Amino acid sequence: MESPFFSEEHRIFRKAVRKFVDEELNPHVDEWEAAGRFPKEIYTKLGELGTLGIRYPTEYGGAGADIWTTVVFCEELGRCRSRGLTMSLLAHTDMSSPYLAKHGNEQLKRKYLPAMIKGEKIGAIVLTEPGGGSDLASMKTTAKRQGNKYILNGSKTFITNALNADIFFVSSKTAPEKGKKGISMLIVERDSPGFIIESMKKKLGMHASDTGELTFQNTPVPAENMIGEENQGFYYIMDGLQNERFVACAAMTSSAQQALNDAVKYAQDREAFGKSLSEYQVTRHKFARLQTKLEAARQLTYHAAWLYDQGQDWTMAVAMCKAFCADVANEVADECLQIHGGYGYTEEYDIARFYRDIRLWKIGGGTTEIMYELIAKQMDI
Ligand SMILES: Cc1cc2nc3c(=O)[nH]c(=O)nc-3n(C[C@H](O)[C@H](O)[C@H](O)COP(=O)(O)OP(=O)(O)OC[C@H]3O[C@@H](n4cnc5c(N)ncnc54)[C@H](O)[C@@H]3O)c2cc1C
Repeated sequence: MESPFFSEEHRIFRKAVRKFVDEELNPHVDEWEAAGRFPKEIYTKLGELGTLGIRYPTEYGGAGADIWTTVVFCEELGRCRSRGLTMSLLAHTDMSSPYLAKHGNEQLKRKYLPAMIKGEKIGAIVLTEPGGGSDLASMKTTAKRQGNKYILNGSKTFITNALNADIFFVSSKTAPEKGKKGISMLIVERDSPGFIIESMKKKLGMHASDTGELTFQNTPVPAENMIGEENQGFYYIMDGLQNERFVACAAMTSSAQQALNDAVKYAQDREAFGKSLSEYQVTRHKFARLQTKLEAARQLTYHAAWLYDQGQDWTMAVAMCKAFCADVANEVADECLQIHGGYGYTEEYDIARFYRDIRLWKIGGGTTEIMYELIAKQMDI
C-alpha cells in the first residue's frame, strides 16, 4: 500500500538503501551470522550513503532529513536477511548517537558526532545490568567525581556492538542516594583503563550482532565526557528509548512483511494432495489475516512517526507500537514457519533465522510487559 507520507525524495532514498541491502549485505549474511559479527567497513559504506546521521544537522555531517527518511532506512534495513545486522546498525544510528546529538554540548558533539556519522566510530548503548534491565532506576554501576574525572565501577550485560564499538554511552549513578534522579550518562572510549569487554556467544538469534558484557574497574572517564547535565540521565534515557523502540518497530514490521512474502511464494510452489498450499482456503485466509495485522502494525508505526513529526508526545503510541509490532512479527514467524513444514525447521529457508531473530523484540529495548505498564500509566490506571 502506497503511503501518503513518502515523497519522491524518500522513494529515491529507499531505492539506494534497498540496493545496498541487496548487494552489500544479503550476499554475506550467512558468513557473518556464523562469525557472530560483521566487518566494520559496513558502517563506513553506510556513512558514505548518508544513512548514519539522517536527522542530524548538516554541520556535523548529518543529512538534516525528517523522520520519514528514518522510517525508509529502517524498513529497508529490515529486509536484511540477518535481523542481527539490522539491530547492530540501528544501535549505532538510533539507539546510541541520539544521546550525543540531542543532549551533548558543542565540544562533545564536535569531538564524536562527525566520526559517528561517517561510520568511523561505532556506538553502543549501555543500560542493562546483570541484576536487571527493566528496572533501570535500580542500576548499581557508579561514577564518582574525582577532580576532572569520573571513576566508573560496575558491570553491564547484553550490550549490542560490544565487540565492534569505539564509543560506549554508559549509564551510571553519579548520586546513588537520589535513585533515578542520580543517574548520568557518560561517553566511555573503548581503550579506557580498567574497561573489560567480554563476548556473549550462543544467543538464540541475532547471531551477526555482537553482544557483550562490560566491566568497569576504577575506569577513569574525563568529566567533559558527561552527556548533558549530571543526574539527568534517567530522563534522557526515557526519552531516548522512545526512538530506540520506534526504529525497532519500523524494521521488524518490514522484516515480517518479507517473511510473509516468502511464505506466500513457498505456499504457491509447494503442493500437497494434488494442489498448491496456497489454493487451500485455510492457507489463503491465514495469509490474509497476517497481512491485515501487519498493515495495522505498519500504520501504528506511521502514526507514531506522524506524532513525532508534529512535535507531539509519542510515548503512548510508541509503547503500543512496540508491544503490537513485536506480537504481530512473532505471530508471522510462527505461522510462516508452519507453512514451510519440516523445511521451516531447517536452515534451508530464511524463516528459521527470522523465527529466532524476531523473538528478541518482545524483550530488547523494553519488554512487552513494560510497554503495557507504560500504556496503563498513560491511561491513569
Ligand atoms: C540480544 C540482546 C541485545 C540487547 N542489547 C542491549 C543493548 O545494546 N543495551 C542495553 O542496555 N541492553 C540491551 N539488551 C538488554 C534488554 O534491553 C533487556 O534484556 C530487557 O530490557 C529486559 O531486561 P532483563 O533481561 O534484565 O529482564 P528483567 O528486567 O529481569 O525482566 C524479566 C521478566 O520480568 C518481566 N517484568 C519485569 N518487570 C515487570 C513488571 N513491573 N511487571 C510485569 N513484568 C515485569 C519482564 O517483562 C520480563 O519478562 C539486549 C538484550 C538482548 C537479549
